[in-house]
Order: sequence, then structure tokens, then C-alpha cells
Amino acid sequence: MENEHVDVLIVGAGLSGVGAACHLQRSLPNKTVAVLEARQDMGGTWDLFRYPGVRSDSDMFTLGYSFAPWGEDKGIAPGASILSYIRETASRYGVDRLIRFGHRVERAQWSSEESRWHVEALRADTGETVHLTCGFLHACTGYYRYDEGYTPEFGGRERFTGTIVHPQHWPEDLDCTGKRVVVIGSGATAVTLVPALAEHAEHVTMLQRSPSYILSIPNYDPIAARLRKRLSPKMTYSIVRWKNVLATLAIYQLSRKAPGMMRRFFVREATRQLPQGFDVGKHLSPSYEPWDQRLCLVPEHDFFNAMRDGSASIVTDRIDTFTETGIALASGEHLDADVVITATGLSLLALGGMTVSIDGAEVDLGKAVTYKGMMLSGVPNAAFTFGYTNASWTLRADLVSEYVCRLLKYMDAHDYAVATPVAPDPSAATEPFIDLKSGYVQRSLAFFPRQGATDPWRVHQNYLKDLRLLKHGPVDDAISFARSARRTTGAADHGGVPVTV
Ligand SMILES: Cc1cc2nc3c(=O)[nH]c(=O)nc-3n(C[C@H](O)[C@H](O)[C@H](O)COP(=O)(O)OP(=O)(O)OC[C@H]3O[C@@H](n4cnc5c(N)ncnc54)[C@H](O)[C@@H]3O)c2cc1C
Repeated sequence: MENEHVDVLIVGAGLSGVGAACHLQRSLPNKTVAVLEARQDMGGTWDLFRYPGVRSDSDMFTLGYSFAPWGEDKGIAPGASILSYIRETASRYGVDRLIRFGHRVERAQWSSEESRWHVEALRADTGETVHLTCGFLHACTGYYRYDEGYTPEFGGRERFTGTIVHPQHWPEDLDCTGKRVVVIGSGATAVTLVPALAEHAEHVTMLQRSPSYILSIPNYDPIAARLRKRLSPKMTYSIVRWKNVLATLAIYQLSRKAPGMMRRFFVREATRQLPQGFDVGKHLSPSYEPWDQRLCLVPEHDFFNAMRDGSASIVTDRIDTFTETGIALASGEHLDADVVITATGLSLLALGGMTVSIDGAEVDLGKAVTYKGMMLSGVPNAAFTFGYTNASWTLRADLVSEYVCRLLKYMDAHDYAVATPVAPDPSAATEPFIDLKSGYVQRSLAFFPRQGATDPWRVHQNYLKDLRLLKHGPVDDAISFARSARRTTGAADHGGVPVTV
């Protein structure tokens, strides 16, 4: 029996996969599209994470889709609002009907004979393997494992008589009211959890090995509110989006170009919000430069308020061992705890764990070089979405989806069946895909593709550069096109005449 065939197969129905499908519906409504999603619901990150206070840490004017205005004046949104926004957008563009839930894609095999992908997905309900073919594959699988977060080995953990929870698997019935809570970690999740839990807990201690930069930002956007009275939602959204893109970019660029000045700025801002005598040098002055790791943004001083009113505190120390009643620290102190939350990060995973092969040869992702940060050298008719690490994910996700639409239109117009980025000089130096020095990134880099030194092999963490490259740049540079089902990998093929431009 023939396998079902679609023009475009999207893997993952999170923010990116839903967005990619919407772009296709808007730009290429005649293409057949299917979205395979491993879980039983859409939303990805915003459906999975259910811990108290879960929210965005970048503003929704830039985390929202370019084509679906965020209609509120508050930029930082709770997880539940983001999930509703994704669901509403999916329903508006009929994308909800394209999603097949409970389908985990395990394998994608390119056949040069047929100029198509053979995709295998495991069905959660029946355990059967489903086979599909597609002309173009778009992986919107996010960047981390869904089944487990990252937790380091903690000695004595089994002795602890309280509850230990990872924020990725928050028990619905966990009530921290009146309890002594220790949150291990100092990243975005920890600084979100601390003020949320401090509202009802007896006390919350953030236990960190080393500090992060934490900056408070206003949540309510008065400019958005004022513009909304005079302009259409679309115009308002576009203006506020640009304002926020430029502000975020400015903070990032200044951090990289004048790290000393920005370090002083972040530390001074933190000091201003904390009571006299708070040891800012110990708890809020990292040893790394600003943006070597992600900057933690908190809305309306909520994290600092919890420190000021005494409902929360920070301890900077190392864990010696868990005990029956809490955590013994290297300094000799002991933290009594009823609940310990291990906000120790994510386990990164490239392409949702799919194996990818071309004519039977498996692609070694750790050696592949990215093309414009969204395709892979030598891999035909496939894109992946990986958003910015220093700005809202969706800014890049939108650009990638638009690029895929442009590429497909270009291929249709020229009657091409295959588009393969041509591998750069194999001896050329490459660099890691992600340029953050955080432990969770460094641990996993070997499994992610590499980037080259120059365009189009460079991954830009810069929306303005990507606008030029992905939105306005050509779609045929360093790509080999072929008209029909023939071997194309590594060689330009256009009826025998190379067409690489
Ligand atoms: C707690 C938290 C807060 C965050 N806050 C922000 C923020 O404020 N701003 C920001 O820009 N970014 C933030 N991020 C990053 C965030 O992940 C992105 O913003 C965005 O949600 C990513 O969307 P995505 O669709 O690419 O990936 P995901 O949300 O991870 O969705 C991927 C989807 O693909 C599915 N999938 C994966 N593998 C397979 C497979 N093999 N087969 C089938 N389906 C598969 C998954 O089940 C999932 O539904 C945050 C991340 C976390 C964890």
C-alpha cells in the first residue's frame, strides 16, 4: 500500500510548529500539510511547564507571531495565556485540524530516487509505527527533552524525607503553603518560582552555586496602551514590537561591547531594590560577563520584593549532601526544608531525538554545518527552527517559516523538486551552534550542528542581520537545485548544468 504523502510535514506543534503551519496556510494554501506532535496537546513548552508563576521572560510583543497581534498591554504573560494565544491562533488558521497528536517522529529517511522523505512516527495510543512521505520536512521540535529535565547527582538525596520536585514535572497537587522551600538554581525558572512560592510558603530559599544577572523590567507597557487608543491593533503591535526588538538588541549589544559598564548597571539596579546590608557582591554579582549566560528578567521587581519583605532569601554555597531534614552545605550550614525544587535546568536535545538519514547514510548532527541557522549542509528539503537565545524565540521562528514559504514558492516557480545547501569547504573552521557558556548548553553542544565563520553558514543572534539574510536575501545562494528525482547531494544538478548561484 502507498504511504500517505503530504507536501510539507511539520514535526512538533509548539509555538514554532503552529506558527510554521499558519505561515504555510497564509502563503501557500494549496500545499498539503500535516503536523505530527508527540504529546496529546499543542503548545509545547507552554503546555508542559505548570509550575507556580510560570510565565514568559521576554515580552509577548516579540514572543507573539508577526501575523497575530498580542492584544494586551502587559508584555510578560503567564504560561496559560501564552497557551491560549497559541491555541486561538491555530484555530484561526485551521491549523488545529492539521495536527495529529500522540505521533512521535523517530526517523526521517531521504530517498534521492524518489526526491522525498520517508518519515516514521510512533503512535502513543496503539504503539504502531505510522509511515508517511513528504516533499519538505520542517522540524519544530524545540531544543530539550520532554521526558526529563536535568538534575545533577546530589549525594544523600534518598535520605531526605521531604518532597523533591523538578519544575518540568510539577505535581498538580503539590501545595507549598506554610512550608519551608528550597529552590536549587539561579536561572530563569528559579527567579520565577521564588516570588510565586514566597506568597504562601513559610519561607523560600534560593540556593545557588553562583549568581546570575537579574534585571527587573516593567510589565505594563504605557506606549502600547496609548497607541492602542489611536491606532489599529495591527499598527500598535508592529510599532511596539519594533520598539522592543531594538531595546533588547541594544541591551545585548551594549553587554557584549561594554561589559564593564553593563555589569555595573545590572549590579547597581539590583542594589537599589534590596535592603541595606544585602550582600549584593556575593549573591548578585556573577563572575562571567553579561550575556555569557542568559540574562534573567523579572517583571515589576517581584523577585527583589520577595527578598525585601523577608519571604525569600538567597544562599550562595555548595551542596555537601542532602540530609533527612534538608541540605547540608559546604560552608557547614544546614538548610531545613520540607520541599526542595531542583530548578537545575533542561536536558538539551536536537531535532527532538529523530534520526535523519540520506539514502541510508545517517547524518551525524554534531558534524553537520547549518545553512542560515535553519537548514543543514548536504541535507535536502529540510529546515529546522531554533529561535534566538538573546531575544524572543518567535522573532527567528517567524523568519524561518517565511523563508521556507519563499523557498517552496521559488522551487515551484522553477519546477525544482530538490533544494540542498551545498556543503562548505569541509576543512573550514566551524564553531558551536549556540554561543552561551551556561553549563546546560556546554554539556550538549556535541549533539548540535556547527556553524561556519561567514554567511550563509553563520548563525546570527541578531534580528536585524537575519531580516536582511532570511527575509530580504536570496533563497538560492549556496543551494543546489534539481528538477526531478535524481541524486543531488553534494552536486549541483539542473539538467546536467549546475545552478548554484
Ligand atoms: C520555562 C520556559 C520558559 C521560556 N520562556 C521563554 C520566553 O519568555 N521567551 C522566549 O523567547 N523563549 C522562552 N523559552 C524558550 C521556549 O521553549 C520557546 O520560546 C518556544 O516555546 C519554543 O517553541 P518550539 O515550538 O520551538 O518548541 P517547544 O515549545 O519545545 O515545542 C516543541 C514541540 O515539538 C514536539 N516534539 C519534539 N520532538 C518531537 C518528535 N520527535 N516528534 C513529534 N513531536 C515532537 C514536542 O512535544 C513539543 O510539543 C522558554 C522555555 C522554557 C522551558
